[in-house]
Amino acid sequence: MIADLHCHSTASDGELSPDALVRRAMECGVDTLAITDHDTVDACAELHAADFPAIRLIPGIEFSTRWHNMGVHVIGLDIDLESTTLAAAIRQQKVARRERAAEISARLAKRGIEDALDGALSFAGNAQIGRPHFARFLIARGYVRSPGEAFRKYLGAGKAGDVKQYWPEMRDVIGWIRSANGTAILAHPAKYKLTNVRLAALADAFQTEGGQAIEVISGQQPIDVTRRLGKLCTDRGLLASCGSDFHGPGQPWSELGHFGSLPDSCRPVWELWQDRDRG
Ligand code: AMP
Ligand code: MN
Ligand code: MN
Ligand code: MN
Repeated sequence: MIADLHCHSTASDGELSPDALVRRAMECGVDTLAITDHDTVDACAELHAADFPAIRLIPGIEFSTRWHNMGVHVIGLDIDLESTTLAAAIRQQKVARRERAAEISARLAKRGIEDALDGALSFAGNAQIGRPHFARFLIARGYVRSPGEAFRKYLGAGKAGDVKQYWPEMRDVIGWIRSANGTAILAHPAKYKLTNVRLAALADAFQTEGGQAIEVISGQQPIDVTRRLGKLCTDRGLLASCGSDFHGPGQPWSELGHFGSLPDSCRPVWELWQDRDRG
């Protein structure tokens, strides 16, 4: 069984349409897929399970949150797409993303880069706007040659695009997910570059605030990272999730379904909905 429970479509900053993403996942041997776009469920809402009998689709979302002024991503899986709490949350995030984009644009203007908001919005179209749309604008204008360079020079940690104050508190987002009957998962804990002590504090806070699982595997990662995150998970009795964080064929993240297996000691998050299905 290959479950890929983290990837992105054109509804946020991914390259493939929801339909193309599911088809690619099937070609990659994935049998359970969650599309987890940044702060939107548009992709999940537009897909019909009946069109894809060979794969199980789990409704998902990746929320941007704040914890002690640090940006933390929280995945909601198996979430009720009809939930009014979820709809309100997404509306709030859409406003937050738009206001944040204006702030990023103002900061870029101070560095001599004009019209970034309009540029990024034109790349985003109907998608939730994010820094990758600014990266595309910066490339199109010739300021940088690649997304990596855009993040290094303008958008990454400590640069103009590093704006976090618009995100809601992690605990509020966990509450939104839980009230929409979803499972709250701490996304890619290794990406925050925390010390062991600080990572343990994050996992503790996440659990205390109602979080249920940790993403033990995010794409292709060293085995010692998997072991460390597996232990972070089992020490607390949390569930374990895994995903590629795939954004598109030409992108640096792993291919759909191409990552290692969860450690045997971990209880996979999909047991939750399998138990429920068995009733
Ligand atoms: P945002 O959602 O606006 O905070 O943007 C975060 C997104 O930017 C991530 O989900 C990635 O898709 C992308 N990203 C972050 N760092 C990099 C990087 N160094 N190079 C390319 N894309 C990146
Ligand atoms: Mn992304
Ligand atoms: Mn993320
Ligand atoms: Mn992601």
